[in-house]
Amino acid sequence: MSKDCIFCKIVEGEIPSKKVYEDDMVLAFHDITPVAPVHVLIIPKKHISSILDIDESDAENYIAKIHLAAKKIAKDLGIAENGFRLVNNCGDAGGQTVYHIHYHLLGGRNLSWPPG
Ligand code: 5GP
Repeated sequence: MSKDCIFCKIVEGEIPSKKVYEDDMVLAFHDITPVAPVHVLIIPKKHISSILDIDESDAENYIAKIHLAAKKIAKDLGIAENGFRLVNNCGDAGGQTVYHIHYHLLGGRNLSWPPG
């Protein structure tokens, strides 16, 4: 845990969240400012700041689990059939504002490409 990280505080239950999925490695909860009818954040319970900080073990464990969680959540929330997007913003120019790696699961509307 990183003591100043809001997502670590959500993992610890110090900040409330609307959870949609949890296992031993991964937590998923609704984004506080949704940009689509379904907007869920999927995070590792371990503090990893960004993609730039992932090591081989993280990739094999946390990142793989995040993808499996995304598949389950998409099915559970009814966006699997029409399609959805799994997005990671990395670094300031990439739009990252919270430096605890997270993947946005977006669905429930047609998503345009390219993103802004
Ligand atoms: P980023 O811009 O880093 O890719 O995404 C961070 C996301 O975290 C944003 O979509 C923002 O709305 C969300 N967020 C920030 N603080 C909180 C919070 O305290 N609770 C929840 N549920 N989402 C948050």
